[in-house]
Amino acid sequence: MDILACPVSDCRSQLRLEVFASHNLESDSEDIEEIDEALITCPKCGRWYPVIDGIACMLPDNLRLDGKQRIEETKFLERWKERISSNIIERGIPFSLTSKD
Ligand SMILES: [Zn+2]
Repeated sequence: MDILACPVSDCRSQLRLEVFASHNLESDSEDIEEIDEALITCPKCGRWYPVIDGIACMLPDNLRLDGKQRIEETKFLERWKERISSNIIERGIPFSLTSKD
């Protein structure tokens, strides 16, 4: 997976990737690691983005704060909370496990 830059228009920082679950693809020529679940963080603006079932969810804040996406991403935080830094669990941007709204 190629991770480019933070999608926030006034940020565009290089992102960090922390892999929680992956599997190797069988291939004749090389071993390819496919990421299943990972956390992407932006060191500049402080946002986090999940990789869920191999898909990096890098949506604008307003699309993450409601509905199905919020539920999916909250489940992701629950699933990996032992491995995610408390900064994100408690004060993550755009939301955290302890956000009230
Ligand atoms: Zn950023």
